[in-house]
Amino acid sequence: MRAPMVAANWKMNGSGAICREFLEHLSVDGLVDVVLFPPFLYTSRLSKGFEERSISVGVQNVFHARSGAYTGEIGAEMAVDAGAMYALVGHSERRNLFGESDEVVADKFVACQRAGLTPVLCIGESFEERAGGEAESVVRRQVDAVLRAAGIEGFANAVIAYEPVWAIGTGETARPDQAQSMHAFIRGVLMKFDTAIATNIKVLYGGSVKASNARELFAEQDIDGGLVGGASLEIMEFEKICRAASR
Ligand code: PEP
Repeated sequence: MRAPMVAANWKMNGSGAICREFLEHLSVDGLVDVVLFPPFLYTSRLSKGFEERSISVGVQNVFHARSGAYTGEIGAEMAVDAGAMYALVGHSERRNLFGESDEVVADKFVACQRAGLTPVLCIGESFEERAGGEAESVVRRQVDAVLRAAGIEGFANAVIAYEPVWAIGTGETARPDQAQSMHAFIRGVLMKFDTAIATNIKVLYGGSVKASNARELFAEQDIDGGLVGGASLEIMEFEKICRAASR
């Protein structure tokens, strides 16, 4: 039985005041794994503040090397030092705005596991790719790159977030049946290599998840929760999404 998870991707939003508000008021029950991904600067403060509660903190990005002359970058081991337990890898904004290829994403995935961070591998097709009938082949290519670098064993301690790019920050959400079909496809790809790993891995849905659509998305068999952007900065809205995932 996969425990549901709801993850908050704050992107480059948030502030000291918002951290304080979350630390003082965020309340979720224990039946859902909750992970906050604030900008890196706030990792330590939130991870210490939430230590006693069942809320984890992750980073939105890591660099693949441990250390070195890479001005401005942060290594996975450093994220662990700051109290992070998870890292997003391959978010579509990293792929599209910062030119991260499938191979770069795979290197980051491996770096996370080397450091003891659980990678949350973000995959998903663009509007044009879906319109061209390529959604499954794009997602397959993104998973294959990580399989080549980390092997199927790499997915034993990882989370996948299926985030159709056309649904991120657009207010447009994949229909539950559309998302379910892609989640089943992703699990099916892993199933060819290892049934237990494919059965146990959490596959989250991301793309304009809100309190008003969360419950029907999370009711689908292969949707194990959500990766939430915009709606995760509003405490009450985020709490409702967590409740919708809670079993
Ligand atoms: C995201 O950034 O991962 C995301 C899903 O954003 P939003 O919920 O705003 O679409």
